[in-house]
Amino acid sequence: MLHVGLTGGIASGKSTVAAILSELGGVLIDADRIARDVVEQGTPGLDAVKNAFGRGVLRPDGSLDRQRLAQRVFSDTDALRTLNGIVHPLVREETRARISQLPEDVVVINDVPLIVENGMAAQYHLVVVVGASVSVRIERAVLRGLSREQATARIAAQADDEARRRAADVWLDNEGTEDQLRSVVELMWRARIVPFAENLAAGHWAEPGERTGASTGRDSAVERLISRIERSGEGVLSRVREKRRGAEPRLDVIELRARAADPDLEADALLPAGFVQVRPTVFANADPGRPAVLKIKPSGDDPGTEIRRATRSA
Ligand code: ADP
Repeated sequence: MLHVGLTGGIASGKSTVAAILSELGGVLIDADRIARDVVEQGTPGLDAVKNAFGRGVLRPDGSLDRQRLAQRVFSDTDALRTLNGIVHPLVREETRARISQLPEDVVVINDVPLIVENGMAAQYHLVVVVGASVSVRIERAVLRGLSREQATARIAAQADDEARRRAADVWLDNEGTEDQLRSVVELMWRARIVPFAENLAAGHWAEPGERTGASTGRDSAVERLISRIERSGEGVLSRVREKRRGAEPRLDVIELRARAADPDLEADALLPAGFVQVRPTVFANADPGRPAVLKIKPSGDDPGTEIRRATRSA
């Protein structure tokens, strides 16, 4: 199962891209929708919100008054933290439950507005960001019924484009027409998402030179791969880093190194990071947009450990 994280600032075109990806065969998991469902009338979620914020955030019929609640937390960080503490775990749990019902061979499109703000990027095999300039987004938000001031305030409250670009494996520029957007989404689906999912299922890795799809910069890609590997190898791998031999790294493939007490990992150990096993201590990225190889060495070879050991026995 390939997990794609889809995000973008307000009125960037994220929902439009989500709809196209679902037409193409992706299974959409809409985080906003789930966040609404977990505080529907009669849910433990709504009870928890009522206990924390009082009946003042409810409508006369007992359902949640979202606007009231939004006003309440908009400029109060403690209140927002309380609300997130209630809603986020419920959303996580419900998302997990929905995904566990899906067949193994699907591509899951996780439509999550705040992937970057909430530091969630490493949870996905591929992060796709829809981007458009602030002025274009304000125009589109106004067409959709927001006032210029509302649109500007919401944009200012979200992550900026620099942070989004660092998190993006694919940046979908949506400055042009919807037809242009559709063709780049179709290309990404065909040339990157589908082969990535197939590679992952078959245990195949992407060879250098195969690179396809609109990849973002190399340095941020190294950071993203390291974060994914650290997350997926938590408790097993340490010192995940780029191999630095001389000044010039290879451009066609990212070479990574890590340490483990026992470097013979299980074949599926790094699938959540998109890495398949080549040999017991060597893994490679299944993403055709970003060939990368990870070699794992025993922690005992770590010169730091050797020195520490020598000092201890001296
Ligand atoms: P988001 O989910 O990021 O808030 P939407 O996908 O809902 O954004 O898009 C915001 C608005 O802009 C919608 O009304 C949508 O139809 C419109 N839109 C999206 N992409 C384009 C485009 N390339 N050209 C013109 N309008 C667009």
